[in-house]
Amino acid sequence: MDIAERDRRHAHATGLLDGLAERDVVAVAITWVDHSGITRVKSVPLDKLPHAAAHGVGVSPVFDGFLLDDSIVAGRYAGGPVGDLRLRPDLDRLTALAGQPGWAWAPADRFDQQGAPHPQDERGLARAAADRLAADGCEVRAGFEVEWVVGRGDVDGFVPAATGPAYGHARQVELSDYCADLIAALVAQGVDVLQFHPEYAAGQFEVSTAPEDPVHAADTAVLVRETIRAVSSRHGLRASFSPKVVVDGVGNGGHLHISLWRDRTNLFAAGADPDAEAFTAGVLRRLPALCAIGCPSVASYLRLVPARWAGAFAAWGVENREAALRLVAGRDLEVKCFDLSANPYLVVAATMVAGHAGVVDGLRLPEPVTVDPVRLPDVPRLPTSLEDAVRAFEQDEVLTEAFGPEFAATIADVRRGEIARFADASPEEVVRVTRWRH
Ligand code: GLU
Ligand code: MG
Repeated sequence: MDIAERDRRHAHATGLLDGLAERDVVAVAITWVDHSGITRVKSVPLDKLPHAAAHGVGVSPVFDGFLLDDSIVAGRYAGGPVGDLRLRPDLDRLTALAGQPGWAWAPADRFDQQGAPHPQDERGLARAAADRLAADGCEVRAGFEVEWVVGRGDVDGFVPAATGPAYGHARQVELSDYCADLIAALVAQGVDVLQFHPEYAAGQFEVSTAPEDPVHAADTAVLVRETIRAVSSRHGLRASFSPKVVVDGVGNGGHLHISLWRDRTNLFAAGADPDAEAFTAGVLRRLPALCAIGCPSVASYLRLVPARWAGAFAAWGVENREAALRLVAGRDLEVKCFDLSANPYLVVAATMVAGHAGVVDGLRLPEPVTVDPVRLPDVPRLPTSLEDAVRAFEQDEVLTEAFGPEFAATIADVRRGEIARFADASPEEVVRVTRWRH
């Protein structure tokens, strides 16, 4: 980064200090999401923000090799003790945290000490995928649905904090102050909340947010999740975003809504648009490999089974909740198979790459699946294990090329590290270890 740019960032941050101090902010949390989907953080006192904005904050590249339980793989391009990176907060997303008084938050880009983008930076990967679509005159809008289960904070293990029924108003009444505080905190932080509801599983809720540019959608997914965590904790509760909170039953999804735009027109709203169809077909074609990104944990495959509305089949349908791809009529494409153990930046990046390749190839969709796909023997399941997904990813030349050799190798190494970590584990053990990590 040149000196003028550094000075500009310093001045920009300095100009924000008074406003943040007036809101009683004392420190700024600067986050990135590792390849295992865990949001990691370095923080600075408020008066150090301009320096952090200009020069970045030091952070070891070892986190590229981190697993969900904080063990570290010795990867081909990750996990070593040597080197240092700079975390540079994105001031455009700097947010005073309503659910965490005293704190502000900003997502970071990772650079090397000379100012070159880190080849395994997830935000940079998402931006590059969006830029390649933009070069073809296309824009993507995206948003995540965040599902989580609320447990009591005063017990070991998991005890749902509410007993009310699925989608039941009673559940919302039981946790009325919690729900209201959460919505208020999200809104105060500028999150455009579309909807909130109690979900199917015991103690489960969902919040969805408005579509935005893909990098910001991933930022918002981080912000929403950390806000839920903070508000839960202030209410003596605990939030689990794990794909599977208990071995039996429905898990937490992290469905991605994505739409393709040209000349400010949503091609998914236009009906029978060939590029929207090709984009969807492109995602459909790569679903097994995309699972290594969007269903990246061993626990993901305990969730990704039929009859759980997790979208366990490599199929598309109009409003079909058992198909991995659900076309939401007149609006967008919902990728249902993804969960929240995924890094949201990698999810938007990989989905854009897959969709874009479909547009470039002018792909057509097969006929939609109009019934529960379990009844159709020729509709394939998505991978039933993380190993199958990783193998599909490694064999996928388009995705691995977009990630670049170092990043693609590290994805495989980290996934295999988690597979080895759980090699002898029962489903109960996998669920227990994963439950509170993401
Ligand atoms: N909880 C389900 C999942 O694991 C999704 C339910 C729904 O359709 O919203 O993805
Ligand atoms: Mg849902």
